Amino acid sequence: MAKILIVDDSKTSRKILKGILLDEGHEVIGEAVNGKEGVEKFQELRPDITTMDITMPVMDGLEALKQIKEFDNNAKVIMITAAGQKSKMVDAIKYGAAEFLAKPFDAEQIVAILKKVL
Ligand SMILES: [Mg+2]
Repeated sequence: MAKILIVDDSKTSRKILKGILLDEGHEVIGEAVNGKEGVEKFQELRPDITTMDITMPVMDGLEALKQIKEFDNNAKVIMITAAGQKSKMVDAIKYGAAEFLAKPFDAEQIVAILKKVL
């Protein structure tokens, strides 16, 4: 079981992801609605894993990933990607993303990725 922080500006995405994670026996210790809040909650809550949407207002997921890795180089951040974000995925690898998870969410894929990261 892992303590997970969900960072996503879409309420629906957070809800779906949270449901799958809880079903798998994980603990969702926090949710954030943009990158800035995500960085703050990461520092406050110190989750085992952070799921990070890429496109968000205020601060996007790439900048948040960068700041989280600067704060804790061992942070495990799984980037949530949508179609057509290949170049952003390249940047995310550069910044130290642990893995990628594609929208729309698939429970089996999430389980496999979490196993790999943990
Ligand atoms: Mg988004």
